[in-house]
Amino acid sequence: MKTESHQLNVIFLPYLSPGHLNPMVDTARLFARYGVSVTIITTHANALTFQNAIDSDFNSGYHIRTQVVPFPTAQLGLPDGAENLKDGTSPDIIGKIFYGVSMLQGPFELLFQDLQPDCLVTDLLYPWTVESAAKLGIPRLYFYSASHFASCATHFITKHKPHERLVSATQKFSIPGLPHNIEMTNLQLEQWVKTKDEFSDLMNEAYESQIRSYGTLCNSFHELEGDYELLYKSTKGIKCWSVGPVSAWANKGGEEKVTRGHKEDFAQDSEWLHWLNSKQNESVLYVSFGSLTRLPHAQIVEIAHGLEISGCNFIWVARKKDENHNGHIFFQEFEEKMKRSKKGYIIWNWAPQLLILNHPAIGGIVTHCGWNSILESVSAGVPMITWPMFAEQFYNEKLLVDVLKIGVPVGAKENKFWTSLGEDAMVGREEIAKAVVELMGKEESTEIRRRARELAGASKKTIEEGGSSYNSLMQLLDELKSLKESKAADKTNTKI
Ligand code: UDP
Repeated sequence: MKTESHQLNVIFLPYLSPGHLNPMVDTARLFARYGVSVTIITTHANALTFQNAIDSDFNSGYHIRTQVVPFPTAQLGLPDGAENLKDGTSPDIIGKIFYGVSMLQGPFELLFQDLQPDCLVTDLLYPWTVESAAKLGIPRLYFYSASHFASCATHFITKHKPHERLVSATQKFSIPGLPHNIEMTNLQLEQWVKTKDEFSDLMNEAYESQIRSYGTLCNSFHELEGDYELLYKSTKGIKCWSVGPVSAWANKGGEEKVTRGHKEDFAQDSEWLHWLNSKQNESVLYVSFGSLTRLPHAQIVEIAHGLEISGCNFIWVARKKDENHNGHIFFQEFEEKMKRSKKGYIIWNWAPQLLILNHPAIGGIVTHCGWNSILESVSAGVPMITWPMFAEQFYNEKLLVDVLKIGVPVGAKENKFWTSLGEDAMVGREEIAKAVVELMGKEESTEIRRRARELAGASKKTIEEGGSSYNSLMQLLDELKSLKESKAADKTNTKI
């Protein structure tokens, strides 16, 4: 791949988890589509999950390629191919993968030196890249696929610490500094905000590196949360470009939706697709807890009963936490029963989410409120049952339910990563069934559906020529080109 001397040369460095990797690869592909020479740096197993899309872009004439570095799997005693947080089946494996990523700093930096880019676009979890960019004399863009709403909420909570003045973990407090009255409890806050440990150090470094970066590249769009976009810019005092929803912008074709983010091809004529095709429009609920979460068996049983009690059609992506014998038998029987009644379909481990969300039979999603799943649902006009689990997902729930009013809360109470989920944080079958009936019952959800459709329309316009995300990306690329040109002019003047 030969880069013309005037062409912008940009490196993208995604973190190794689907919620970070997918939106960054989408954004990298958009840069290439608008004339940038792009290199995505990652590891071998991660590259396999998106290489089809890169090859197809390259064959269409775009300057885009992947550069891989080896992941220290053998050195850490990890199973072959375990190079992504989604491969973590236990706290021990997750810890090793996390550590393995930190070992890649040296090889990554060597590649930056070799490739001499004009700009680095790096994930928030690589705060050290601010220094790498400074050494190369180029801008670093901080990439974070999260809502402006969550960023503002985190900012004001860490600044004012309202949760430290409460009498109990379940007492409600209002988040200071926001344009809406948003109430939370201490239990719903991320652990790193409340305790000091290795992870809180990393998050603090990440936020500190953000304000030393050239600017933020954000996967959101003005029409969705404009108030919070402005608040984010004014509180952080840095430049910010909202260029989302990148999933809908980069993956317009059916084939791209099928293969996005996974190495196995989901045949277009698979059984689940026939099942979906047999259902009426907007009659099926899609149930997914994202790429990382593995639920305890007792919670899986509650979900199964809750869905059955609701009487609604559903398609559920299930990932088991463990293979205990009772769990296996329960699921086998449940799956067979659902097949007989044609009420439900279970997809194991991984689903082509973009394809499913955009299928006309889908009328709602149960989501863990990961930001990518939210944007993908918004783009497809699909309203949500909100079931936040960890990280900033409880803030995202507030945005969906209290501000945008396109979500029905299931009643999750505690912020916990799946590795520490116990029976105390479980949601019961009655609560699940109640939320499903409220969202999927056509009369109860008329307004929610109208608003979801309206936002889907706005999400399509924003990425068309003249739309706000489109303009934002074009302005950013122009600015980066001007920076490159003035740097070249400075060099020429120095020589003279
Ligand atoms: N995803 C998918 N199939 C699955 C599970 C997840 O395609 O079975 C994709 C989903 O479309 C999204 C990403 O993985 O792009 C998950 O990111 P999100 O922010 O929603 O949640 P996380 O996995 O980071 O908790």
